[in-house]
Amino acid sequence: MALGSNLGDRAAHLAAAREALGALPGTRLLAESDVEETAPIGPPGQGAYLNQMVALATTLDPAALLDRLHDIERSRGRERRERWGPRTLDLDIVRFGARRLTGSALTIPHPELPHRDFWRRELAQVQARVSDALASRP
Ligand code: ADP
Ligand code: MG
Repeated sequence: MALGSNLGDRAAHLAAAREALGALPGTRLLAESDVEETAPIGPPGQGAYLNQMVALATTLDPAALLDRLHDIERSRGRERRERWGPRTLDLDIVRFGARRLTGSALTIPHPELPHRDFWRRELAQVQARVSDALASRP
């Protein structure tokens, strides 16, 4: 999952998102990437983003998870106006195991993954950390 914020207290929005994700039913936060600051994508005049990738283990299916993500976004005051406009919190499903979905409501892997170097970098980092966490388990 990718977390992004470019409005308000960005670090606080990401921290609240991590906590809310870990508290979802049947869900555990496995690992997180470093937080990166990136230039905004979309209409001009927006502030820079803080981005982070996290890995979850969940029993939720992708559609149920997406509904929960929208709840969490709303709880941080997210308003949907223009496409790619500024937002307090954006939660995107980048990958869901090896699943592939194509639809208007949900596409997995996320179609922007090939175009965002910072996502791919953060994804590699979080995957390495999941492997480390699993390897060091008793
Ligand atoms: P964006 O993330 O593209 O900047 P939004 O957060 O407003 O814009 O998302 C718009 C819609 O994209 C969501 O309501 C959701 O239905 C859809 N969507 C499609 N695939 C995904 C995905 N993999 N993760 C999150 N949302 C997705
Ligand atoms: Mg989104």
